[in-house]
Amino acid sequence: MGLNQFTAHELMGKLKSREILPRDILEDLFARLKEVEPRVKAYARFKPEGIPSPEQSLGLPITIKDNICTEGLKTECCSKILVNFRPPYDATVVAKLKAAGVSIFPFKANMDEFAFGSSTENSCFGTTRNPWDLEYVPGGSSGGSAAAVAGDEAVWALGSDTGGSIRQPASFCGVVGLKPTYGLVSRFGLVAFASSLDQIGPITKDVEDAAILTGIISGYDPNDSTSVNQQVPDYTGSLGKGAKGLKIGIPKEYFIEGLDAEVKDVIDEALNKLKFLGAVSKEVSLPHTQYAVPVYYIIATAEASSNLARFDGVQYGYRASSDELIEMYKKTRAEGFGEEAKRRIILGTFALSHGYYDAYYLRALKVRTLIKNDFDAVFRDFDCIITPTSPTPAFRIGEKTQDPLKMYLSDIYTISVNLAGIPAISIPCGFTKKGLPVGLQIMAKPFDEETIFRVAHAFEQNTEWHKIKPKL
Ligand code: GLN
Repeated sequence: MGLNQFTAHELMGKLKSREILPRDILEDLFARLKEVEPRVKAYARFKPEGIPSPEQSLGLPITIKDNICTEGLKTECCSKILVNFRPPYDATVVAKLKAAGVSIFPFKANMDEFAFGSSTENSCFGTTRNPWDLEYVPGGSSGGSAAAVAGDEAVWALGSDTGGSIRQPASFCGVVGLKPTYGLVSRFGLVAFASSLDQIGPITKDVEDAAILTGIISGYDPNDSTSVNQQVPDYTGSLGKGAKGLKIGIPKEYFIEGLDAEVKDVIDEALNKLKFLGAVSKEVSLPHTQYAVPVYYIIATAEASSNLARFDGVQYGYRASSDELIEMYKKTRAEGFGEEAKRRIILGTFALSHGYYDAYYLRALKVRTLIKNDFDAVFRDFDCIITPTSPTPAFRIGEKTQDPLKMYLSDIYTISVNLAGIPAISIPCGFTKKGLPVGLQIMAKPFDEETIFRVAHAFEQNTEWHKIKPKL
């Protein structure tokens, strides 16, 4: 068994006992990439001739999504407009990883341009494929990170989640993905999509790795004024505590038309398992759920249109040639941004424009509060909320590219979590008859990642789903 197949905590044990060296892990990862990466395309700029010497590795490697700054290492958000951008600094999460002895894998994970998407089909480097079936999408926008972990092309990875971009690809690829509480993890050095929704989080092979990685990247950062100044608990302490006595809410609004029948069966089975393990569950209501998608696509595009204003071709990235300044800006943006980025800039600018601000943006902010209040009410009586991560398993490449609205609806179960700022995980909980993975989503109250890890670990340790690997 190649070292690329092990979890991070298993490899940490082997490194500690000096059974292996960091370069042994890199060697096996590079061998795996040579073998499967031409088919999976989980990495943004992988070239077999670009593989560095594994000798240089100092620690356990981690794969980083292309929108998280890595000093000296290209960070292009899979967009032409950031071509050749090498950040002069590390994102705080990257600096924390380095300080913990983790080394940055020399290739960055593919993603939808600027994290706009649910399928990784919006990357300027082409589509990543789902390791379980190469004709299917890996989900998005962190599809490269999820496919790399699922296909044993990475030990573990970081993604970012604005409306589901960690959890939905984790679900489609059969791995673990956590969107932490807003403010738990610093966003410094994460190229902003929607600043009030974005969080960086782990994509891993099991729950223990997710708990370890969350512990490393969390904590107050003076460089991010929205990061919260409080003690980070030892998340591994929540593992092994079981599910006995936990109160689970099942929101009725998530089990409606549009939920795939096979996904529903798998989720029902998983809930039965948790009951068997001693948890109690009850139907609850999150009455404003139906507004989550429209509210999200107003707020997220409004913030994105403002955040993307900085890409003008002047200081870094792509620049179109022109003798005239305004013309240069226009040509740079017209040629540099992809279709989905332009759609979002137009939608967001419209929602913020005079006369429409009150009707759309301000109203969306008010409804966002109502969505948050729904969660607060349920968490007064329940420890966690469990739902499917996505209404369907992975879909075919090309299936939704012509219909943006259909694509937007694939995040219907993940988006509310970002609007409310709460944490949620997706863990593997079964397969469809065709052999595509299904993810179980567990949500908890703000800063209660411990409960999430506790439930997720209890489920995982009593099932075998996380051990099944795709045949590539
Ligand atoms: N799919 C959603 C979108 O396109 C979420 C993306 C994300 O979380 N970055 O906005």
